[in-house]
Parts: sequence; structure tokens; C-alpha cells
Amino acid sequence: MAYDLVVVGTGFASSFFLAEYLARAPRTARVLVLERGFRDTRAWQLEHRRTTRLDADATFRRSGSPDKQWTFTLGFGGGSNCWWGCTPRLMPADFALKTHYGVGEDWPMTYADLEPFYERAEAVMAIAGSDRAPYPRRTPPPLPAHRLSDPDRLLAAAYPDAYFPQPTARARVATGTRPACCANGVCGLCPIDAKFTIENGLAGVYADSRVTLRLGADVTALDLQAGRVTAVIVKGDHNRDRTAGNERVEADLFVLGAGAIFNPTILLRSGLTHARLGRRLFEQVSLMAKIDLDGVDGFQGSTVFTANGYMLYDGPHRARHAACLMESWNRPDELRWESGRERQLLAIKFIFEDLPDERNGITLDADGMPVLHFEGYSEYARRGFDAVRSELDTLLAPLPVERVAFGPDPLPTEGHILGTVMMGDDPSASVVDRWMVHHAVRNLVVLGGSAFPTGSPANPTLTISALALWSADHLFA
Ligand SMILES: Cc1cc2nc3c(=O)[nH]c(=O)nc-3n(C[C@H](O)[C@H](O)[C@H](O)COP(=O)(O)OP(=O)(O)OC[C@H]3O[C@@H](n4cnc5c(N)ncnc54)[C@H](O)[C@@H]3O)c2cc1C
Ligand code: SF4
Repeated sequence: MAYDLVVVGTGFASSFFLAEYLARAPRTARVLVLERGFRDTRAWQLEHRRTTRLDADATFRRSGSPDKQWTFTLGFGGGSNCWWGCTPRLMPADFALKTHYGVGEDWPMTYADLEPFYERAEAVMAIAGSDRAPYPRRTPPPLPAHRLSDPDRLLAAAYPDAYFPQPTARARVATGTRPACCANGVCGLCPIDAKFTIENGLAGVYADSRVTLRLGADVTALDLQAGRVTAVIVKGDHNRDRTAGNERVEADLFVLGAGAIFNPTILLRSGLTHARLGRRLFEQVSLMAKIDLDGVDGFQGSTVFTANGYMLYDGPHRARHAACLMESWNRPDELRWESGRERQLLAIKFIFEDLPDERNGITLDADGMPVLHFEGYSEYARRGFDAVRSELDTLLAPLPVERVAFGPDPLPTEGHILGTVMMGDDPSASVVDRWMVHHAVRNLVVLGGSAFPTGSPANPTLTISALALWSADHLFA
């Protein structure tokens, strides 16, 4: 049977795209969704204390920097199972780093272009946040902001234009499908289902009678003929039938939403080539700091991360070193040991953008397995670490600081895998266009953070979801 649309993956990118497609498609539309993982129930997840039965580490190999880790979830809903629900938008300048500061690359769209789609993605995720924000917004977030901690309040009073409650998909009040977040801080598998997941927020698209969902369907490659995709190749299901061969599934339009590791893997296995295909694999990078306070208790917030600080984010310094987003933690997993002073503490994560480096990327080994090569973070990011350390005393002056201890330098992963299928207007310098359609193969859409030309220090998933809506809106308008 041939389909109108085949979608690979069930994470944010695929699900938001599909929601927009179904809102416009005829009742006769036929959609097949192929998901490599399984739909492990909440009961199963909670019993096994893991988000999926699949071992992500067994699906790729690493080379280069021995310390670099890559974390993600393979399963129905993708990263929505394990994500922590932090949803800042990018800043307007993040879309034009080259133009403003002479580094990195410009995106093919502006903040203003994406703004309506940010709004729509925030509505679907029922984002909690403040109407005061460092970026322009036409409407307030759907849910009220979470309560700050007392150290946050001191910083917010000192930096009224740069310190805000964190926008988040962890519910502030019950939404009808999710209870209010109770700030226990184990969001990688939220025990009460308070954070947005595909299962609790967008499962309806997979229940639509036009959609067939196949689980355990590992898409290995695309079949290309005369510059078009004619079929996806699905690996034979050897659990059910040891003699099963690969299967071809035909369609008119093909959408890859398999994440920044497997999108390029599938394209490379299909014989597609481009100087930038698989290149520029990157993540943001972060430093943790524990700040002991004199006489001020922390942990009064109503969620796990309560605020974002933009004091070191945008400005002329980005010509020299990375922007930094501060994330205030309200997670009582490590208190002070001194009696009576256990809570006199603030933990801050300093998250830096990294500039994509052509040397970092994904190739295939002899078996077609992706090999993730990472040389290390850019000097641009490292200069950002130095700037934070040198400006820390001034930055934290509004707090009664006793001592600051930085954690391992840097953390081994942010869980935000980006780059590898860059978007842009110039087909010689990018793999997909501004609508995320492959420049040369026009019935192929490649969604997700793989398209990001640069990273910004902001968490990427709200932008990934907004871009999926933007792409579908254009294709099916
Ligand atoms: C611990 C952790 C915490 C995070 N917290 C945040 C956060 O607070 N805020 C934020 O913005 N981001 C966060 N992220 C990042 C976020 O999870 C990703 O940005 C997001 O999931 C990317 O969405 P996606 O739809 O592009 O890909 P994914 O969500 O990874 O979905 C890809 C889908 O494709 C499927 N798939 C893969 N290969 C194949 C194949 N060959 N055939 C068929 N299906 C396939 C996968 O099983 C999966 O369903 C976090 C990540 C981690 C690991
Ligand atoms: S802080 Fe707790 S309740 Fe809130 S989303 Fe995280 S795990 Fe769930």
C-alpha cells in the first residue's frame, strides 16, 4: 500500500508536524508513522525506572574526545519522555549571529518569522511562564509562572530586565491532562506526569483514523530514484521472524524526525552526499556552580528549575566569546551539611552556546552504524567559561555569597544534540532549505535540531517544535 505521507519518529518534531498536517489534510489522507522504539507504558516506565526498553548507547559509536557523552531516548514520544521541560525561546540575535557579531552563521528565518509558531507550540505544551520576557512576545504564556526561590527574588530585584521565571512545560496549575508540578526534581521520569510529553499532550494525532503507527520499525535508508524518494527501507523485524528481509514502504512525501544522530545516518546510508551532511555535530555546554549563602535559604520554588538569567547572554561580547544562559536550580538533591544551614544554597547552571565545528560530525562504519566524532568544544565557548568566572563576583553581588564551588568542567552532555543537516538558503552551504525541505530531493523533509545553523545557549526543543509547525504550515497552506 502506498501512503500520502510517511513520518519517521514520534518525538517533538514529527508529532508537531503531524498535528499541523492532520489539521489540513483531507479525510481520505493515509499516513504511516514508523517508530524504531516501543510505547512503553507509564506503569512500565515507573516500575523499571527508565523511559524506554531500548539502550540508546548501543545504537552508535563514539570517537575523539573520550569525555563527550550523547544522551537521548529511543521510543514513542522520543525525548519528551526524558526531557526536563525547560522551554525558553531563542533570542532575536540568535537567528543572526553572523550579521550581528561576525561569528557562526545566520539562520534563514528571523525571530519575527517564527514568533506565531512559538506561540502555537507554547499553547500545545501549556507553557508556564511570565509575560515579562527578554524576547518580544505578543501574548502571555498559557499558564502562570512558577514561584521563585528567595535567592531568585534577590537576583530578580537586582536585574529586573534580565532575570525571569523560567518558561517551562512543567505545569504550574493542573491543565486537564497534567497535574501541577510538585517540585520533586526527578523530571527525567516525572512520577506524577506534570511535564508535557507526547503521550500526555499529542497522543491524539496517533489515534487519528488517518494515521497508522508502527512501533519497532527501524528505518535504515531511503530509496531514491530520479532525485525523489520513492520509499523508506524498514529493517526486517527479526524478533518476530528471523528470516524477515527489509521492507520498502512507498509514499508521496517523506518526513524524517529521527533526531540529529539518525536523520543524517539515514541520509548517508541512502547515498546522499553534501559537504555539510553529517558535519557540525554540536551541543551547548555547561558549568555547574554551587553557591553557599550567608543567612538566605533557597528551595522555596514551585518547580525544579525556577529562573533564567540573561545577564551574560546577548551583547557585543558575542563577537569574542559565547553567550551564557543562567539556569537557577531548585532541586534539593544536595544540601549543605552544616546543621541549621542546610538550605542556605543556590545551584546555578551556566549554559553556553558552542560554535559548530566542521571537524565534529557523523560518519558510518562498515556496518552502517553512526560514528559520532567530537574533537572538543570551541575556544569561543571556553572563552565564555573564563568570562563567567571573571565576572562572577559582580554578577552575584546581590546575594550574600560565602563561597562558590564550580563542578566538573564542563558537564559531559547537555542532552541537546544539534547540527548535522544544516538549513539555509544557499544549496551549496546547507542541506535543507528554510522550510526544512531537502534542497535537491524535494519530497523529503528533515526536521529537528539537526537543521540548526547555530545553537544559542537556550534549550532547543520549543524551537524544534515551532520549526516543525512552520514547515508544515508552509507545505500544506
Ligand atoms: C535528559 C534530557 C533532558 C532534556 N531536557 C530538555 C529540556 O528541558 N528542554 C529542551 O528544550 N530540551 C531538552 N532535552 C532535549 C530534547 O529531548 C530534544 O531536543 C528533543 O527530544 C528533540 O526532538 P526531536 O523530535 O527532534 O527528536 P527526538 O525527540 O529524539 O525523537 C526522535 C524519534 O525518532 C525515533 N527514531 C530514531 N531513529 C529512528 C529510525 N531509524 N527509525 C524510526 N524511528 C527512529 C526515536 O525513537 C524518537 O521517537 C533533553 C534531553 C535529554 C536527553
Ligand atoms: S519537578 Fe517533579 S512534578 Fe515537576 S515535572 Fe519535575 S518530576 Fe514532575
